[in-house]
Amino acid sequence: MKKVVVGIDIGNSTTEVCVAEIDQVSNITFKSSSSVSTTGTKGTPDNIRGIKQALQIALDQIDLKHSQIDRIFLNEAAPVIGDTAMETITETIITDSTMIGHDPSTPSGEGLGIGETILITDIQRANKDQAYIVLVPKEISYEMAAKLINDADQHITGAIVQNDEAVLIQNRIKTFMPIVDEVKYIERIRLGMLAAIEVGTTGRAVQSLSNPYSIANIFKLNPEETKRIIPIAKSLIGNRSAVIVKTPHGEVREKVLPAGKLTIISHNGSFKEVPIDQGAAKIMESISSISQIVHIEGDTGSNVGGMLERMRRGLHTLSNSTMQTISIKDLLAVDVLVPIDVKGALAGEVSLEKAVALAAMVKTDKLPMQMLADALYKELGIQAEIAGVEAVMASVGALTTRGSTLPLAILDLGGGSTDAAIILEDGSAKAVHLAGAGNFITMLIDVQLSLNNLSLAEDIKRHPLAKVESLFYIRLETGEVKFFNEPLSPKLFGKIVVCKENKLIPIETKHNLEKIVMTRKTAKKDVFVQNALRALKQIAAAHDIRTISNVVLVGGSALDFEIPHMILEVLSYYNIVVGKGEIRGTEGPRNAVATGLVLSKVRRV
Ligand code: ADP
Ligand code: MG
Repeated sequence: MKKVVVGIDIGNSTTEVCVAEIDQVSNITFKSSSSVSTTGTKGTPDNIRGIKQALQIALDQIDLKHSQIDRIFLNEAAPVIGDTAMETITETIITDSTMIGHDPSTPSGEGLGIGETILITDIQRANKDQAYIVLVPKEISYEMAAKLINDADQHITGAIVQNDEAVLIQNRIKTFMPIVDEVKYIERIRLGMLAAIEVGTTGRAVQSLSNPYSIANIFKLNPEETKRIIPIAKSLIGNRSAVIVKTPHGEVREKVLPAGKLTIISHNGSFKEVPIDQGAAKIMESISSISQIVHIEGDTGSNVGGMLERMRRGLHTLSNSTMQTISIKDLLAVDVLVPIDVKGALAGEVSLEKAVALAAMVKTDKLPMQMLADALYKELGIQAEIAGVEAVMASVGALTTRGSTLPLAILDLGGGSTDAAIILEDGSAKAVHLAGAGNFITMLIDVQLSLNNLSLAEDIKRHPLAKVESLFYIRLETGEVKFFNEPLSPKLFGKIVVCKENKLIPIETKHNLEKIVMTRKTAKKDVFVQNALRALKQIAAAHDIRTISNVVLVGGSALDFEIPHMILEVLSYYNIVVGKGEIRGTEGPRNAVATGLVLSKVRRV
């Protein structure tokens, strides 16, 4: 009689199932498979909902019923849970209104204008042998403003406008000049002060006011003062328009925020401390210098401390274990620049502040998988047993990739953690779990582009971008042009879009296409190239990565259109054969653990 068995892999993000038939002589025939999003935290009874969905999908494909299943194999899920946080290190503060560097969608004119600030209604009375920049508050209509500018004999070099009317004014005046509009807090600009205003030429950002030496030249600054205006120049980089006003006491400061420190504790009780504001490289150096980390702590009160504590608590409730057995075993740090509102700004300016983003991994002794197996039996009446360690099962499943051979290493590129395992010819295995994976990349994209929208960030991660150049064609990020027979929605015109299957999803952002592509690629490299090397080093004989000959990539992030190539590129340097898994020749890099469970269990029986 044939028996029906099911392998189930409950991951942090995805629950995967495969159904197989086994005959009397233990021949295995895989019948179907499926995957759904994991419901609830991995290892909790909430998972049952997802398991049932996935089972149903797989069973429907082959017209089987629950009652025909003889046995379910659950993985001994790796007791790791990942989370992410960010600690901002610098803060730009303006006192006494000195800078406007915002990006209105429609500034007008171009080039640089230098002059003294004056209210437009006062211009007629002003001195004639001096240059002026006029301020146009919202009560003055664009028609009136244009008339006042045209009537004045004084030398006007530019205008700062409160309403969104730069173009309307420009169209009505005789001389062409840079005009910046949408300056919300125009009344905070001091009058009678030397100011510089710049609008970038078509398609370009400002060139002079983002260069510290140009600013020094305009305002006649000494070397000490030039050093102090660096935060101004920095926060104006990439803007289409900018204004700088020199006030006697005005100041822009870059304040370094107290960011706390991390304490990395080794198995022999020794520890290392590293201040977070020293940046990612220093943090990673400290982490890799300790061979067996038992715990990592963050200062209470800091974001990192808060995150680490939150993760520990979460896992604590989950596993009913004492707090002592839950520890943070690994961290991945990445330097980022995040656009943050400047304090004391005049027009909602943002500055790129330095920050360190961290992914952490909490580990406990064991997840309560038996509880889950019992619940499954109660709900479905099917015997469920826990069989095999996740990472090892992934390797057994990965071995069904044609062309792979023992000794075989796998990299499981998941959502919350990057796992690696190696199986040697004698069947012995070794596995590691590292912090940082697909979800961390999504967070890095979200914060660096200030999207505040994780599902959009996820789409940006997974799909290529394009610019809608006309209603009949788009230009893909590769430079290729794609034509359409039917006109696109006018709403998409001029927008940057994510090309998701047959849909074009517009991204509401001020960043250009190149910047978004670069952010996406850098995040992927920072996470997975770094983690691939860290993980393989830890499982390699004598920690020498060159002793590894074959690596199969599995897990959700191995489906990415760029990540496998990036890993291939760095590992080829070490002469390692690496590629995306083709589990059973049909599943791609998916279903490795579920497949491994069925294979290893049946073989042993
Ligand atoms: P887990 O084993 O932890 O449940 P998975 O192996 O399912 O995790 O991997 C989940 C990760 O894979 C998520 O970060 C998700 O964004 C990513 N992912 C899934 N599909 C794709 C895809 N097509 N392209 C890029 N990333 C993907
Ligand atoms: Mg997994």
